[in-house]
Amino acid sequence: MRRYEDTYKQKGLRKQLVDNIRQKGITDENVLAAIGNIPRHYFLDTAFESIAYDDRAFPIGEGQTISQPYTVAYQTQLLEVKPYEKVLEIGTGSAYQACVLAELKANVFTIERQRRLFDQVKTLPFKSQYPNIRFFYGDGYEGLATYAPFDKVLVTAAAPQIPEKLVQQLKIGGKMVIPVGGQDVQRMLRITKVSDTETEQELFDNFSFVPMLAGRK
Ligand code: SAH
Repeated sequence: MRRYEDTYKQKGLRKQLVDNIRQKGITDENVLAAIGNIPRHYFLDTAFESIAYDDRAFPIGEGQTISQPYTVAYQTQLLEVKPYEKVLEIGTGSAYQACVLAELKANVFTIERQRRLFDQVKTLPFKSQYPNIRFFYGDGYEGLATYAPFDKVLVTAAAPQIPEKLVQQLKIGGKMVIPVGGQDVQRMLRITKVSDTETEQELFDNFSFVPMLAGRK
């Protein structure tokens, strides 16, 4: 069985990573602290342990990736999470982003469409540390009607357009952060639900995510 250890070296590298993303423009101290608290190397294959604190994406199996720390921080900062808010995340992947939200004391509901990734997350050592995360196997396009409405929705895969059901499942005043666009590049959007029928949109930087695909696998 794999041994999970957080050494001084890894703690040091993690500090440097936090400085690095601060320099790239992340200003929310709570988000930076969350990144600083979570041993990212636990979420990666041991082959990547020595480079886990580089600011880059890594493969996590099934053709998927754990997002770059800067991207995780960027989306989390835009989401403006407050303690005890209900946050729906689409695309659990490695569960790293879900743990960042959990560090911010959100009540996290996270959905993954790939069975193997969903199962893999169950073996993570820190799962018991975050009782405020609930894991679901399903299609993120459907959201989680049973648990709606949500204060916030965070989509961590590239959506061709804004999924209507996810807007429906937002509270009035709630916000969704989502990369929208084609295969190669997407624009980060923040959508605020201002009434049952109206939303406001803000545009941010371009990113490149793996695609948000329909159905379970
Ligand atoms: N948040 C993740 C990033 C994972 S990459 C992390 O921190 O590691 C995007 C993930 O979204 C992949 O695991 C992919 O399988 C998943 N995904 C893609 N389309 C989806 C959908 N419709 N519903 C749920 N998950 C989806």
